[in-house]
Amino acid sequence: MTTRVRFAPSPTGYLHIGGARTALYNYLFARHTQGKFILRIEDTDELRSSDEAVVAILEGLSWLGLDWDEGPVVKQDGSLGIKGAHGPYFQMERRALYFEHIERLLAEGKAYECYCSTDELKAKRERAQQEKRPPKYDNHCRHLTAQQVSAFKKEQRKPVIRFKNSGTGTTVFKDIIKGEVKFENALLDDFVIVKPNGVPLYNLAVVLDDALMEITHVIRGDDHISNTPRQVMLYQALGFKLPVFAHIPMILGGDGSRLSKRHGAASVTAYRDQGYLKEAVLNYLALLGWSTTDSQQLFESQELIKKFTLERCSGSAAIFDEQKLLWMNGEYIRSQSLDEFTDIAIPYLKEAGLLPALFDRERLKKIIKLEQEKVKYLTDIPKLFDFMLQDEIVYHEKDVAKVLKKEGSQTILEDMLERVNLLNNFTADSLEKLCRDYADEEGIKTGMVFHPLRVATSGRAKGPSLFHYLEVLGKDVVCVRIEKALTEFFR
Ligand code: GLU
Repeated sequence: MTTRVRFAPSPTGYLHIGGARTALYNYLFARHTQGKFILRIEDTDELRSSDEAVVAILEGLSWLGLDWDEGPVVKQDGSLGIKGAHGPYFQMERRALYFEHIERLLAEGKAYECYCSTDELKAKRERAQQEKRPPKYDNHCRHLTAQQVSAFKKEQRKPVIRFKNSGTGTTVFKDIIKGEVKFENALLDDFVIVKPNGVPLYNLAVVLDDALMEITHVIRGDDHISNTPRQVMLYQALGFKLPVFAHIPMILGGDGSRLSKRHGAASVTAYRDQGYLKEAVLNYLALLGWSTTDSQQLFESQELIKKFTLERCSGSAAIFDEQKLLWMNGEYIRSQSLDEFTDIAIPYLKEAGLLPALFDRERLKKIIKLEQEKVKYLTDIPKLFDFMLQDEIVYHEKDVAKVLKKEGSQTILEDMLERVNLLNNFTADSLEKLCRDYADEEGIKTGMVFHPLRVATSGRAKGPSLFHYLEVLGKDVVCVRIEKALTEFFR
C-alpha cells in the first residue's frame, strides 16, 4: 500500500507556525514511507477564504521546501495550476463530486433536509437552556410530511442537510498519537453537513475528499479531534474505509495559551523575513512535538525523513521557545561552509546596496569569514559587514567621543599611520606585532593603541578581530582611513 497524506489548510490567512508543523509532519511521514504528500485547499468558508491567503500558504510551504506531490502550484507566469490525478484540489471546485454522495445519503435515509430557520433554532436552544437540557437539535425535521415540505418550499425556505445520528452507542477510532478514542454518540446531535446553498460543511467535505483522494493517514492538529467522531460516522454511513488518524497536540506560547500572533511572529514567512534560515525553522518545527529516543537536537533534512515516525510524536502540547529557535539558527549559520554562507549573504548585502553588480567573490569571502560565527539573524548581515564594503566610512559619534577623543589618541594614530605605511608584510600577525611593539616602546597599555585604531578604521568600537579585518581592508585603505580620522577629528 502506498501511503497518501494531505495538508489541508483553510486559506483564511498566512501559513502559521502550527500549520507549518502539521504540513511538515505530513511531509516527513510521506517521504519516510515513500508515499505521497497532497496539498488540498479547504475553501468552503467563502467569506473568510481568499486568493492572497492561498498564495501566502504556497509561498510558506515552498520556502520551507515542503514540496508536495499533488495539489495547486504557482506557474512561472504567476497563475495557479495543478499537479496530480486526484484533483481538483480546491474544495469549491469539487462541489460537483460531492453531489452524488449527498444524494446517496439522502436516498438511503442517512441524512435529511432540515427547514428550521435560524430563529427557530435559536429559540429551541434557548428553551433547552432554560430547561437545563443540552442544546441539541431536536430532530424536528427527521419526519416531515410531504405537505410540510411543500409548505416550507412555498415560503422559499432553503434547507440544510443534517446527518442522522443514531444517538446511541459509541464511535471509536484508533489514533496513533492519542490511542483509542471513544465518543458517546448521544453527545452529538443530527449535525449539519450541507449548507442551504448546497456547499458541504467541513466535516462532510473533508471525509469525501479524504476518501476520494485515497488518503491513508490523516495527520492534523488535535484541535480537530472533536470533529473526528462526526467524520467517522460519515465514513461509516458512506461505506468508505477509515484512514488512520494521528492528532498532533497544540503548540502553546510561553504563557501556556495557544500560540498566536500575540506571541510574536506567528507566520512562517515572518521568520524568513526576520532572518531565520529555513533549515533552522524546519529543524525547530520538527522538534515541536516529536523527538528521538536520544533527544537529538540537530538534524539534516534527510536525517529527519529517515528518523521521523508518528509513534514518536508526543501526546502533550509543545511550548514554542523562540530562544531555542534562535540558538538553532546560530548553529545552522555556523555550520554553513564559507561558500554556502557567502551565497546566503550576497542577497542581503545587495539589497542593502553594499555590493556592486560585479564584485570580487574571493575578497567577499574573506570579509564574511570575519563574522560568520557571530551572525544571529541573517538580517544582521548588512550591519556587520557594511564598514568593510563601503568606501565612505561612517563614524559612530558615541565611539568617536569615547575612544578617539581621548587624551593621546591623536599622537598614537599619527605614529600608527607612519609605521603602518612602512609595513611591507601587511598581515594580521605583523600588524599585531607592530601595535604591541609600539605599546611596549611607549610604555602604554595595548588597548590605548587597539581601540583608537579600530574606531579610526571601522568607525565603531566593536567588530571583528582587529588585525584580521585590517589585513582584509588592505594597507591603502587602512592608511586612508587613519588619515581621514585625523583630519576629521583633530586637525
Ligand atoms: N482545513 C482544516 C484547517 O485548516 C484542516 C482540516 C483537516 O486537516 O482535517 O484547520
